[in-house]
Amino acid sequence: MKRPEMDSDTGLELPTIGRTMRLFGRASLLRCPNCGMGPVLQHWLRLRVKCGTCGLRLQRGEHDAFTGSMFILFTLVGLAAYVVLAVTLAVTAATPWELLEYGLPVLAAVLIVAFFPFAKLLWLAFDLMLRPVTPEELEWHRGADAEFETERDAPR
Ligand SMILES: [Zn+2]
Repeated sequence: MKRPEMDSDTGLELPTIGRTMRLFGRASLLRCPNCGMGPVLQHWLRLRVKCGTCGLRLQRGEHDAFTGSMFILFTLVGLAAYVVLAVTLAVTAATPWELLEYGLPVLAAVLIVAFFPFAKLLWLAFDLMLRPVTPEELEWHRGADAEFETERDAPR
């Protein structure tokens, strides 16, 4: 029997502070938010399909996991650009507007690459914070080879 991918038995869960800190701390260290190990990176711009330790599929079998990570990526890059702008305005007597005009877009492009894997794992941590992985779901993650699947076998 098949059932839709997004059909969740557990639904959303109210996160605790300790679990939230643990999930985001692991993601900030480029480790699997679920188990704290890895490896999780195929290379800097690409996650592995599954965590090398716990077997969690790092996009949880969903096509739109990329969208949430882009929200986190552009938020991080925007905040970093504002910090650089604010510090430059605070410490320089004559504001180097021409340097900022060309330097900030270059900085943003560099930071998009630099923050890319962090954004993906932080989004996974956010997802796991609200929808913790169940033992049945983890079994499904371990059993599948593909990055995306639209249906899965119902737990027995
Ligand atoms: Zn893991």
